[in-house]
Parts: sequence; C-alpha cells; structure tokens
Amino acid sequence: MSTLVRRAYRFALDPTPTQARDLERHAGAARFAYNWALGAVKANLGQRAAERSYGLSDENLTPVLGWNLPALRRAWNTTKGEVAPWWGECSKEAFNTGLDGVARALRNFSDSRAGKRAGRTVGFPKFKARRRATPSVRFTTGVIRVEGDRTHVTLPRLGRIKTHESTRKLARRIEQGSARILSATVRREAGRWFCSFTCEVQHTQRAPTRPNLVVGVDLGVTHLAVLSSPVPGVSDENGFVPNPRHLGRAQRDLARVSRRVSRRVGPDRRTGQRPSKRWEKANRQRNTIHHRVADLRRDGLHKLTTGLAAMIGIVVVEDLNVAGMLRNRKLARQLADASFGEIRRQLRYKMCWSGGRLVVADRWFPSSKTCSACGAVKPKLSLSTRVFRCEHCGLVIDRDLNAAINLQRQVAQSGWETINGRGADRKTKPGLAGGCEASTPHRLAGQDGDRSPVTASCE
Ligand SMILES: [Zn+2]
Repeated sequence: MSTLVRRAYRFALDPTPTQARDLERHAGAARFAYNWALGAVKANLGQRAAERSYGLSDENLTPVLGWNLPALRRAWNTTKGEVAPWWGECSKEAFNTGLDGVARALRNFSDSRAGKRAGRTVGFPKFKARRRATPSVRFTTGVIRVEGDRTHVTLPRLGRIKTHESTRKLARRIEQGSARILSATVRREAGRWFCSFTCEVQHTQRAPTRPNLVVGVDLGVTHLAVLSSPVPGVSDENGFVPNPRHLGRAQRDLARVSRRVSRRVGPDRRTGQRPSKRWEKANRQRNTIHHRVADLRRDGLHKLTTGLAAMIGIVVVEDLNVAGMLRNRKLARQLADASFGEIRRQLRYKMCWSGGRLVVADRWFPSSKTCSACGAVKPKLSLSTRVFRCEHCGLVIDRDLNAAINLQRQVAQSGWETINGRGADRKTKPGLAGGCEASTPHRLAGQDGDRSPVTASCE
C-alpha cells in the first residue's frame, strides 16, 4: 500500500562567508517584515479604538487592516518603498515569511480566544528581537532544488549552497519521482545554518515483522530505554537499549561548561546588567554542547523508534510524567523526561507508517511501583532506587525493566494483542492527520470487574 505523506528532509549547510551574510540578511528581512506587520496591525487597532472614543460612527472609522496574509501583503507592498527602501536586495519570499508569521500568530491568537484551538492559551503576538529570535526564512516559490551532485542545494536569490552532508536520501527519491519539494526553510541554530525541505513523499507501507507482539517501553536514566522483552537489533538480550556513544561525555562537558557560565557575569534584567564578553563566550560553548547532547539523544531515539516500528505490532509507552518533571532537577532525569514526549511523537507517526499501533498508558498507572510478578503495589518508590524489590514475592528486578513489563502487561491483559494491524475495527476518528494512537482507559489494569474496553483515539 502506498500513501502520500509530508516529510521533512533537513541538511546542515556549509555556506561561504558571502552566502552566510546573504542568509543573515534574508532572515533579517523576514524579521523586519514580521515586526512591521505586527506594528501595523497594532497601530490599526489603536487608531480605530481612539476614533471610536471620539464618537465616530463605525463607517467613518479607519478601515480594518485584515489579519490574513493577502491583506498584510497588500499593505506591505504599498508601504515597502517607504519603510524598507532596500527591499529589492532580498527575495520577496523573505518578507512573505515574516508576513505569514504574523498572519499565523494572529490566527492562533483569535482561534485560542474563541476556544477553537487545543493546547495552551495563545497570547497576542509579540515583536521579535534581533538577539533573541532564531533567524529563519522560508522559500515556497522559485528555484528550490537539491543538485544532482548531492552536495549542493539551490535556493532563490541565494544560489548554490554547499551542504555539510550528502543529500542522497532526498535526491534519490526525487530522481525516482517519489518525492516533490513543497518548500525550503533555512534557519540558524547554534551558529550553524540548516536547510529543511518539506516534501510530499510517496510512502510505501510495510507491515511489522511481528505484528502480534506487545512491547512496553520505559525511558531510563542509565539506559536510553528499557523494553519489556528483548528486540534483536534494538536492545541487548535483557531488553536494555544502551545510550548513544559519546552521550555521557557530552553530558559531563555540559555540566563543566555550565559551571563556568555561572561563575561569570551574566545578564540581569532587574539591574540592567549586560553580560560580559567572557560570559557570552562561555554561553556559546554551552549552547553548542547542549545541541550536541540533544542531537546524540535524538539520533538514539530515532534509531530506537525506527527499529521498534519495523518489528513490533503494538508498542506501549508511559504518558508524560509532568509532575515528576517538575519535582526533579537532576539533569539526566530531565533529559529522560523530555524524551517521553519525543519518543511518543516519533512512535506515533512511525507506527502509523508501518501499520503498527502505539498505546499510551494511563498517566496514573503506577508502572514503576507495581511488582511485575505478583502485582503488589508499593506505596512509595523514590527515583534514586534503581532496583525494585518486592516485599510480597521477593522479586528483585531493575526498576525500569519492571516498569516496562508492567506497561506491556497492562495492554496484553486487556486483549490488545488480538487486534490486528491498524485496528480499524476500533472507533477511530477518521480524517485527522498524524494517526493511530490509542490510550488505555483511566482505570488501573489489574483491578478486575467491569473494566471498560480500551478506546482508540487519534490526536
Ligand atoms: Zn511481587
């Protein structure tokens, strides 16, 4: 089976100094247009409010400046000669990026206020400061392509830019005709430029090799993850997935440089203290290591989730441990906690592509405190206790492995292993992108009685 999916391909760039300046200028133009459009919208609102307070009737007020992209673009085109006489130096796509940003931000704000938007409340957009905003610009039209030599990309106005790594993965698909580039976004992160191509890709669905197997996954502290049963090629023979190489070293470096940063004179909002040059230098070093740690971890997670999706029919993960995240300040734990959301996000789409299922266990299911042999629940288990010891049956087992087995049990007990493939027989809301995820009911497994059936939902 083959479906059209959106997929991003991201490559690090190695621009020449001139190209880097051009990239910087385009990103600056995008930010300029963003701030201009936001200022225009605010001025328009203020003008109309003032006129109304003088008692002007509605038809005599200054006309509304629309909050959509076409209206903002019309307004920009009539004033750009005055506010930005240099506009011809940059691609029009740069200004479009900024205007589109404002239009989206305003839409998110009004949708949020009208209750039409899930998630946290979105406030009115704010101006972008040069020092704080991530420089970024998006191209949707013009010459956007990956070159046949697989070491260059071409963007409108910027021309051929060398990539740091081979563009083989995308280039091959484009040559075969199974991918089409929709847009390209260039952004600078940690002092390096990246180009991300949003593509429409012909995706061929493969079935997992063991479609009926249920595996629980617990993200560990000393290990990247612990699986309830070993998966060859993903974990070792005990179910432990080791951390990526060099991660420990990078984390130690990070702690060391963080100490250095805190010893130097940093910025202080209250006193208006500007950071010292030495602080800025140390802070740059810290950001670089931060990115390296995040990259290593993300790479490890990608390998883990790809391996799981290719083999396993049903994967069970824990829900986000928000309370635990707030309580604990340890670096390693925070990183592991931050990965809960990421592993879930990756599994959600990869399992969907492979035809498997992702199940998110109930947030209050005590996966760590329950004994995986006899089912006894401990009243308390501190995070520092790495080995689970059961007082009832005497089981001694690694804490994370115990949790992973409990996650697996929770689903296996509710008869999930009999559901095949995508589980289309369950009530799955159609039409929502991002696919097949299920959650267990807000009821603890192991408690018998009239347990309601597990419901499937799409987020
Ligand atoms: Zn026990």
